[in-house]
Amino acid sequence: MKDSLKSCPHPWCSKSDPQVITSDTFVIRVICSTCGFGTPNAYTSRQKAVSEWNHRPKEDKSRKEIERLRKHVAALQDEVEDLSSSGPHASTEEWSV
Ligand SMILES: [Zn+2]
Repeated sequence: MKDSLKSCPHPWCSKSDPQVITSDTFVIRVICSTCGFGTPNAYTSRQKAVSEWNHRPKEDKSRKEIERLRKHVAALQDEVEDLSSSGPHASTEEWSV
């Protein structure tokens, strides 16, 4: 079974390569084989280790906020296009975002 692992969260990791590691004592962790960053705890369940690795509340919150802002910018760009095609000033070339 292939685990669905998010990429390595370490900011300086050059090549994310997370892997589920099981030790001789059957302790399970997820560790990036590139930089060595890993889950802070070890688990007896593979599913729990993967869940801990993929648990990124701040990252998930940031992604949602970025998506919300992208939609907002797209809506504003549509409004600008509507205004520029119907208003007295037809050109928006000098505008910057
Ligand atoms: Zn890494």
